[in-house]
Amino acid sequence: MSACDVVIVGAGPYGLSAAAHLRAADGLDVRVFGEPMSFWERHMPKGMLLRSPLEGSHLSDPAGALSLEAYAAAKGNPLAAPFPLHRFTDYGRWFQNHVAPDLDSRKIDRVEKNGSGFQLTLQDGENLKARRVVIAAGIMPFAWHPQEFRSLPSALASHASAHTDLSRFSGKKVAVIGGGQSALESAALLNEMGAEVEVLVRTPIVRWLWRSPWVHTCRPIARMLYAPPDVGQAGVSHLVARPNLFRRLPRLVQNRLAVRAIRPAGAAWLKPRCQHFPITTGRAVISTLTSGDRVILKLGDGSERHVDHVLLATGYRVDISRYPFLAVKLLSSIRQIGGYPQLDVGFESSVPGLHFLGAPAAWSFGPLSRFVAGSAFTARELTRKILRNASNHAAS
Ligand SMILES: Cc1cc2nc3c(=O)[nH]c(=O)nc-3n(C[C@H](O)[C@H](O)[C@H](O)COP(=O)(O)OP(=O)(O)OC[C@H]3O[C@@H](n4cnc5c(N)ncnc54)[C@H](O)[C@@H]3O)c2cc1C
Repeated sequence: MSACDVVIVGAGPYGLSAAAHLRAADGLDVRVFGEPMSFWERHMPKGMLLRSPLEGSHLSDPAGALSLEAYAAAKGNPLAAPFPLHRFTDYGRWFQNHVAPDLDSRKIDRVEKNGSGFQLTLQDGENLKARRVVIAAGIMPFAWHPQEFRSLPSALASHASAHTDLSRFSGKKVAVIGGGQSALESAALLNEMGAEVEVLVRTPIVRWLWRSPWVHTCRPIARMLYAPPDVGQAGVSHLVARPNLFRRLPRLVQNRLAVRAIRPAGAAWLKPRCQHFPITTGRAVISTLTSGDRVILKLGDGSERHVDHVLLATGYRVDISRYPFLAVKLLSSIRQIGGYPQLDVGFESSVPGLHFLGAPAAWSFGPLSRFVAGSAFTARELTRKILRNASNHAAS
């Protein structure tokens, strides 16, 4: 059985950034598994634009040599904002070719404890030992299907993550459930592709991420109010951008700020595209029925909608027990809060040597972990912790 120091499970923005930082540190044998940028390539709609600003969409390497600007220069294609999905996935692959050209795209089927380290089983049955395991496996298993839609067959109701090509709904009547960026942008794309679409939102209003025009024209004031990753409201954005500060706030304050920082909202640039179809607010779906190959949605106000398909843009709920590769015994020894692992310095869980990056780290390090922008802080802290531990190990 082969062995290494660190295995990274996942090759999205977090896994690749972690690989860049760990591999730049001498002396560590780091192996990276997963399909590069697969979530972005296979679970987001073609034609999508990134909601995060360019400053908040870099993957991270220690020298800062693999930024979006470096990618644009290498490709001879200037950056555009908002940044298109297909260019972001291409950026991720370009980054991967630099930092992990030897990446192994096989899936990890099982991670279990083995003495003071871990044993991993690959999809083809090969086994591997590692002193540390870094889970950067993303949010796909956490796609949330609200109860009222669970009895519908997938041909009639599907999560937004099930689609890359929304043109298959051209000429169909589609209800989109949700009031965030994913719902609004999916609806805009559906409308542009010839579907008859209505967005149904539970809350009384749809939030748009407007900023006063003076914020755009006065850069120093904008910088004072918003940190570059641009996660959270004015002022709060600076706290969110400093996870080591954020995590020291009283838990109630953290919870309140986190909810506000990630509440559903649409980017301002999307609003004009959403003016060609109805967005019905303050109306929840209370029950569903099938009628032949259509769905009847009954709403809280007594009205009904008869549609060909229901698209659930209902988000993701972190619950690490949904990672199919975590062995039951290992899972039960990870201290958790509401499905999130409780993490310490270096994103390490209560199982020494087992780290979680990305959205599962949001309970411990705040909402930045849910966005690409958190990958720089995360990769630096992870590397610092692993190197400190390796040098203590060597000294003892
Ligand atoms: C529609 C939509 C739009 C979004 N837009 C933005 C945006 O504009 N800006 C932003 O910052 N964030 C955005 N996000 C959030 C985004 O998903 C995260 O910021 C980002 O993907 C986190 O990266 P990650 O590396 O944690 O996970 P992912 O990108 O999901 O990568 C997970 C990796 O793990 C691998 N993997 C999974 N299981 C295994 C296994 N068993 N073995 C091996 N490998 C495995 C996958 O192949 C993949 O390589 C968006 C999310 C959605 C749903």
